[in-house]
Amino acid sequence: MAILVVGSVAFDNIETPHGAVKDCLGGAATHFSLAASYFTPVRVIAVVGKDFTAEHEAVFTRRGIDTRGIERSEGLSFHWTGSYSGNMDEAKTLGTDLNVFETFEPKIPDVYKDSEYLFLANIDPVLQSRVRSQMSNVRMVCGDTMNYWIADHSANLAKVLRELDVLLINDGEARMLAGERNLVLAAEKVLTMGPKTLVVKHGEYGATAFFGDRSFPGVDRALRPFRAPALPLAEVVDPTGAGDSFAGGFYGYLASQRELTPAVLRTAMFYGGVMGSFAVERFGTERMQNVSREEIDERFKLFLEISHLEHAGV
Ligand code: AMP
Repeated sequence: MAILVVGSVAFDNIETPHGAVKDCLGGAATHFSLAASYFTPVRVIAVVGKDFTAEHEAVFTRRGIDTRGIERSEGLSFHWTGSYSGNMDEAKTLGTDLNVFETFEPKIPDVYKDSEYLFLANIDPVLQSRVRSQMSNVRMVCGDTMNYWIADHSANLAKVLRELDVLLINDGEARMLAGERNLVLAAEKVLTMGPKTLVVKHGEYGATAFFGDRSFPGVDRALRPFRAPALPLAEVVDPTGAGDSFAGGFYGYLASQRELTPAVLRTAMFYGGVMGSFAVERFGTERMQNVSREEIDERFKLFLEISHLEHAGV
């Protein structure tokens, strides 16, 4: 079933120990859409400027992603500049130019209105809320955010959190949002802020899902947390978009399934890891534009192999 995503479509300047790129196509909605497109139809709501060309749009349409909700505006697209050093576990933001996003009024094309799954990718929580309120009949809402919005836009973010089925953030953000250093206690606190389920990403160490007593229809108690690994990789070229690609694999798989059960959600955590592991192999969206179904299946098996006891010969 189709996912409607709202978020940034951007141009990124990125520097990592493996090199640097300028004005490469990025943005949370871009990375998310590409990853999710391997599992289910995807429709995008965003705004871009004059610098977004037919070639950029083709990156989406070649993957079958519906771009009719990408609005063109005067001015420049969103630009982000970031760098990674050391073990590249965290991006240092050097510049954020919202540009056309500053005055964006999201409009949802009629042909998008029947989308059953909504993903509020990382963008101003005010825009996330505007889209959420126009999509009152969706089956499931999943959302992301980042330190930038947690620190300075907390009241607007609180409104978004109350509307979420699943919140997907990294561990630093979970601790910051809760004001609590211990991750389990932080997760408990975040679950009181609205989301029914919290998925915390740990970068190269995988991700953990924390459940509340409303996480699954028909299960009225909180299940124990579930942790899925990340694939140990010998070379990480550019971590930008890994979190969004995780989200795309995770949510794309959920939207492709008939029901939300504990088994489906746990499997989705593995598909998130699979897509995140591809994303970091090249700069920008390069790798995520060309992954084959066989590669996805093969890597999924590898994830089972590195984490399941029955493969350990015991
Ligand atoms: P990730 O590495 O998965 O957290 O996502 C990185 C992507 O998020 C980059 O392609 C950026 O263009 C985009 N991004 C960075 N900062 C922001 C922001 N403040 N709002 C929206 N998108 C952002």
